[in-house]
Amino acid sequence: MADALSRRVNLLNLVKDFLLVNGCLFFRRRLCVPHTSLRDFLTWECHAGGLLSHFGRNKTIAAIEYQFYWPTLKRDVGNIIAQCQVLPIISRPTVPLA
Ligand SMILES: [Zn+2]
Repeated sequence: MADALSRRVNLLNLVKDFLLVNGCLFFRRRLCVPHTSLRDFLTWECHAGGLLSHFGRNKTIAAIEYQFYWPTLKRDVGNIIAQCQVLPIISRPTVPLA
């Protein structure tokens, strides 16, 4: 009985973090992104789009998490960043000119 009650309390605590506004679901004020190619698009845009310059994994995650949410965000972003062919090149330590 205590397990069922604690599960119910945990579920209610989780549900109160979600908010539905004009058909858009928010989790703790961050827009929930459905499991679509939109996640990949947002990741690449936050990683290398616009004025950003091939941020590493942690900075890209921070940029996305600022406004967006999905449960597997960190894992998905890590997998996508691992595919970047530019990041390893620009992440190399620079050799000072003699
Ligand atoms: Zn990159």
